[in-house]
Amino acid sequence: MSLLGVMRGVVSSVRSGGSSASLPGPAPEELTQVLGYLKPKDVQLIEEAYEVARAAHSGQYRQSGEPYITHPIAVAKILAEWHLDAQALIAALLHDVVEDTPTTKSEIAKKFGKPVAELVDGVSKIDRIEFATLQHAQAENFRKMLLAMARDVRVILIKLADRLHNMRTLGAVSPAKRRRVARETMEIYAPIANRLGLNMIYHELQELAFSHLFPLRYRVLAKATKAARGNRREMIGRTLEAIKKKLADGGIRASVQGREKHVYSTYRKMIEKHLSFSQVHDIFGCRVIVDDVPSCYLALGALHALYKPIPGKFKDYIAIPKANGYQSIHTDLIGPYGVPVEVQIRTEQMHRLAESGVASHWMYKDDSEKLSELQKQTHRWLQSLLEIQNQSGDPAEFLEHVKVDLFPDEVYVFTPKGKILSLPRGATAVDFAYAVHTDIGNRCVAAKVNGELVPLRSELRNGDRVEIITASHAKPNPGWLQYVRTGKARSNIRHFLKTMQYEESASLGERLLEQALKPFKGSLAEIDEAGWERVVRDSGARSRHEILADIGLGKRLPAVVARRLLRNTEHRDDPRGGGSVTIRGTEGMAVQLATCCRPIPGDSIVGSIKKGQGLVVHASDCGSIARSRRNEPEQWIDVEWDPRTTKLFQAAIHVMVENQRGVLARVASEVAEAGSNIDAITMEEDRSMFTTMHFVLEVANRQHLARVMRALRRLREVKKISRARE
Ligand code: MN
Repeated sequence: MSLLGVMRGVVSSVRSGGSSASLPGPAPEELTQVLGYLKPKDVQLIEEAYEVARAAHSGQYRQSGEPYITHPIAVAKILAEWHLDAQALIAALLHDVVEDTPTTKSEIAKKFGKPVAELVDGVSKIDRIEFATLQHAQAENFRKMLLAMARDVRVILIKLADRLHNMRTLGAVSPAKRRRVARETMEIYAPIANRLGLNMIYHELQELAFSHLFPLRYRVLAKATKAARGNRREMIGRTLEAIKKKLADGGIRASVQGREKHVYSTYRKMIEKHLSFSQVHDIFGCRVIVDDVPSCYLALGALHALYKPIPGKFKDYIAIPKANGYQSIHTDLIGPYGVPVEVQIRTEQMHRLAESGVASHWMYKDDSEKLSELQKQTHRWLQSLLEIQNQSGDPAEFLEHVKVDLFPDEVYVFTPKGKILSLPRGATAVDFAYAVHTDIGNRCVAAKVNGELVPLRSELRNGDRVEIITASHAKPNPGWLQYVRTGKARSNIRHFLKTMQYEESASLGERLLEQALKPFKGSLAEIDEAGWERVVRDSGARSRHEILADIGLGKRLPAVVARRLLRNTEHRDDPRGGGSVTIRGTEGMAVQLATCCRPIPGDSIVGSIKKGQGLVVHASDCGSIARSRRNEPEQWIDVEWDPRTTKLFQAAIHVMVENQRGVLARVASEVAEAGSNIDAITMEEDRSMFTTMHFVLEVANRQHLARVMRALRRLREVKKISRARE
């Protein structure tokens, strides 16, 4: 007690001419009654802190006219709701004293210990920051704030509680200040709350900020939301009952709740997707909370059996959590009356994490693996901020790095040496490889993310440590173009492929030329250097290589070049003696298998050499080539399959099936059973009894395809099956 007396003495002696004597009194009940989760010793310390704060702020008033002390009490109460520890609550009570009263940091340290003084100091530092928006001038301040929270997450939790209370009472301040604070909340504090997984605070901050930034829009939308809720009460009740019953029938213990749409997220969806209020709001959200992870998937299965899922809307954030640790299964269903139902399925523990993020540590005294993983993740994130700070002295650059983390359109990842690269969201390991160095991109064969081997197409996530494995013989694959995100990767791959195509075309050109020489009983071996030089000169080409590549690319006719090469030699023209070019399917880009007829070994084939296209191989009976073969015979050459080829080829089939649940799964498993792969599936939107599915399959040859089709024909649901030619 004597210590408290000393402290009080310090505070009042420093304060000059305090008008109203601050009589010591018990801490208000509204505070003490929420401290039940703390030890009595801690509660006593908090009461002492209250006393210090009350004395220090006495005579100060908020803009609303209330005594200032009501603010620190409210902040401490919010933190008590999250069950934060005594140090944090003490710091909350004292968070404005260093800033607004003569009390110093060292006085607080003496009385309540250094950790509390550090917390107060951290919060005060953030308070001194004024950022109108996230712009260059504010970069330095933003950095300070993130660094303050990097040292102790509790600093930002106190700051967020402080901001939450200020936002709840923002009506009292001037309109100009209101707008500034609301914008700052929207642009900086809400994203930080989101990044830390504090979902409830995130949404409340957003709603409050929105209501102050656009009061009219907020009022209109809030009213519409309320009205819509009333209108749909019956539908919602019925849907919830149906879901509960279905889960109970399946023996799945679950609690099922409807989800209210936030006004701000409704607004944003309307703006971003150009939708009307009713389009956004005609979606019913509901949440299913189950006991464990296996039950999540069981519940998913049950709900998909109850209502038809909307294709492409299923997301498994349990297997792949979001960057802030969020886990859930999301799926969209078509509910009764055709109303879309957005369902989230998660366990109780995932739910707590989703609502409270890092704060769950204090709230639930939860020591589970998941939570400690989340804490580690958060810690790593904060730690990485400190590391970036050390690497780049430039605040603007630092801000850029942090922004990509708070604002989810970019990801930043680490090289094995700890260098940071920022890439657009959706960037893959291939983008990363090219971002490091063009040679690494061109030679990459695999990637390790956080020490684990992953496919090159894997999307990178914030904080990933990426290592690229290269091989000296490796080459870029045209397929990469389908998933790379960065311009650098794209242009480099294109450039390489062009060069490679040139090489492959030259080697095909050589084979075509050899074939063209045969009718004249000639061969490339007997053409000497001088013969080549003459032809190169006469054709206006730069080199023999170029002529060969031109032939391969279809820019020169092999027969013409052959004639020129043989001009000075004794050869008879005998067009019947020609052989044909053999196709292995592994020639690369110089030989293309036409996608209209998708020829496979066993089909009779012909080749066309069109300018700039290289050799295109069609099935002889392909409908799209008949006219050209009649009118431009010089373009067509004989080709045949190389019997030694072991490659798999793409063939297309149509399958007409009875429209039943699970039919696709049965067809797919039959295909796999027959030793084939599915490369692509498209389905006709058809709600009638039958539907046609189009498959692109991988097969070795005609016999193999016939086997697959026979197997499918045996399925009861399959009504008709044919090879696709068009
Ligand atoms: Mn405050």
